[in-house]
Amino acid sequence: MLHCIQCGARFGERELIWRCPCGGTLQLSGYNPRPASSQCSPWRYLNGFFPALERDALVTMGEGNTPLIERSIAGHKAWFKLDYLMPSGSYKDRGMSVLATWLRTVGLTKVVEDSSGNAGASLAAYCAAGGIACDVYVPSYTSAGKCVQIAAYGGNLVRIPGSREKTTQAAMEAGRQSFYASHNWSPWFLHGVKTWFLEVHEHLPDVKNIVVPVGQGSIALGAWLAMEDLRHMGVDVSVRILGVQPEACAPLARAFEEKKHLPATIEKRETAAEGIASSEPVRGAEVLETVRSSKGTFVTVNEEELWEALNELGKAGLFLEPTSAAAVAGWKKLLKAGELLEEEETVVFLSGSGLKASDKIAAHFEPKLHTSNFA
Ligand SMILES: [Zn+2]
Repeated sequence: MLHCIQCGARFGERELIWRCPCGGTLQLSGYNPRPASSQCSPWRYLNGFFPALERDALVTMGEGNTPLIERSIAGHKAWFKLDYLMPSGSYKDRGMSVLATWLRTVGLTKVVEDSSGNAGASLAAYCAAGGIACDVYVPSYTSAGKCVQIAAYGGNLVRIPGSREKTTQAAMEAGRQSFYASHNWSPWFLHGVKTWFLEVHEHLPDVKNIVVPVGQGSIALGAWLAMEDLRHMGVDVSVRILGVQPEACAPLARAFEEKKHLPATIEKRETAAEGIASSEPVRGAEVLETVRSSKGTFVTVNEEELWEALNELGKAGLFLEPTSAAAVAGWKKLLKAGELLEEEETVVFLSGSGLKASDKIAAHFEPKLHTSNFA
């Protein structure tokens, strides 16, 4: 069953709805979390979670089961969850497997989505695998690698000039003709994403802190859902969620600092961390509450810190997009500020492959290699 976070209204699992008529976000209730099966994908944790999803509607490409490695970066040790090692090169595949399965279950054959790039590429991949047509709206500044990917999967790419928010408006408008399959609104997507933390907890039951990049906040929200599932199964888990936002776009970090319950109204500036440049996160209030409940905090990083971290990751053998490097930059700052202790088990979440943003990375490090006419 689905319920509205804001007004509590209830809806069936097959209703074609992406948000409550009152404007609130939807969440799932009334399922029974069960221990993992031996199946090899996020679905090993989702067995029996979604009785409404039909078995023959399943869309999966072996996503999940990503490596968790211990590394020393910039002289400090932590665990790194390599969630960029997925079929489409970002963690979004966990959520899209579940979202695409729901789309097939309810019989949709065409959907519309908006994305800063990675989610669009992931949706296009899973729609291709599931035989669903999709229009993906992206801001015109989106990295060439992500646009190429969406088109390669057969997604219909629509570039919208202006802000990320303008892209959302255009997609919602277009969604009236088919269905607005927004991953940011979808509770199904979140329950796929939550499996990242279930994997971490299985390998590292003593984990104390997780450091995650936060734009719309699905990685943080997913982790919290996973912790609630574990508690429901009688597992004692208390993990601090530490959210990282770019200084150029930090509505949640600001609200957290000001002890507010809604995202702050901000003037967004340009940032290389395009995947988390969300000035109006639709589940912002939920993210703030989640981070507070976990006794965590937020940290912001500037562009220089982000590029430095990207460089250090590369030198450690990890090629990430700038959005993911922001998480590492944030982790370093939290260590320095004493918010994190190195001897505690800490997991830093690495969300998206550098191969997706090689145009932007090249432009930063080697201006001569910049191929702007490729975009
Ligand atoms: Zn409502």
